Amino acid sequence: MKSDDFYAMRNPVDEYRTEGFPKQKQPYPGLQKDMKPVPDCGEKTYKGNNRLKGRKALITGGDSGIGRAAAIAYAREGADIAINYLDFEEDDAKEAKELLEKEGCKVHLIPGDLADEEFNKKMVTEANEKLGGLDILALVAGHQVATKSIEDIDTEQLHRVFAINVYSLFWTVKAALPILPAGSAIITTSSIQAYDPSRHLLDYASTKGAIKAFTQALGEQLIKKGIRVNSVAPGPIWTALQVSGGQFQESLPKFGQDTPFKRAGQPVELSGLYVFLASQESSYITSEVFGVTGGSHL
Ligand code: NAD
Ligand code: MG
Repeated sequence: MKSDDFYAMRNPVDEYRTEGFPKQKQPYPGLQKDMKPVPDCGEKTYKGNNRLKGRKALITGGDSGIGRAAAIAYAREGADIAINYLDFEEDDAKEAKELLEKEGCKVHLIPGDLADEEFNKKMVTEANEKLGGLDILALVAGHQVATKSIEDIDTEQLHRVFAINVYSLFWTVKAALPILPAGSAIITTSSIQAYDPSRHLLDYASTKGAIKAFTQALGEQLIKKGIRVNSVAPGPIWTALQVSGGQFQESLPKFGQDTPFKRAGQPVELSGLYVFLASQESSYITSEVFGVTGGSHL
């Protein structure tokens, strides 16, 4: 980012341009703090304006990447926050917590594995207790394993990718429904992969298609309770998921270069949309999927 003023007008094509990312490999789920370059989640730039004052948000995957960008924005917009992540990511989560606490909001960390049904229930109960209620679910966590052929996707991988990306949405929302008041917002995280699947992401793209369908159908179910459900569908965004098995090493230098913008996005470029979909500003919008793709069509 060249300008310190996130809101100063500038050419979005030049923004965050790189000559390509360096190859780098981390074990799943990866640590954002060790990435080169470290993704921009709006730590130094996002400014809030009370758009979520008094709201209480549970954010899965809030330690890093898109989830951290949402967490920073929500905190600066006045919300209290509970963040879920895996134990391995404690360093990223602690860093996020320190940042959020500077905003003067409540921040509660809930490490645990979303592939475990019981943990999903525990996470919702704990978030509700610690925050004194819950009215935003930002379901951002996801798992992606680049795999050349269907023959190499073993049943363990298949179960895990579907459990984390899809089943967990069912488990979390089911646990939260008795708690969420009218006016609550649920935001899922699908992907351009739901619309334009890559051959090396067969299982992952299938889960993202499922998340799109889940969002659209659940929105219709829940509007009678006054709860809205929408989805964000990112294109290529520079995050830990990509360097911890989500892409093949040889794909990293060109990551995002095939978009009309000819660059990858940064997590902070999704912050505003997660805020908009959580806030009352989107009061007439449900069951929608919004692309943040650098110009590739959903
Ligand atoms: P990220 O690695 O920073 O965040 C993903 C998070 O998922 C991790 O921080 C981790 O906390 C969480 N997670 C993974 N497995 C988990 C498990 N078993 N239990 C609990 N948490 C778990 O990467 P990101 O790109 O910011 O990913 C956020 C979301 O965006 C994901 O759903 C991903 O599929 C989606 N997405 C990303 C891109 C992209 O290009 N980065 C594109 C489209 C969609
Ligand atoms: Mg992480």
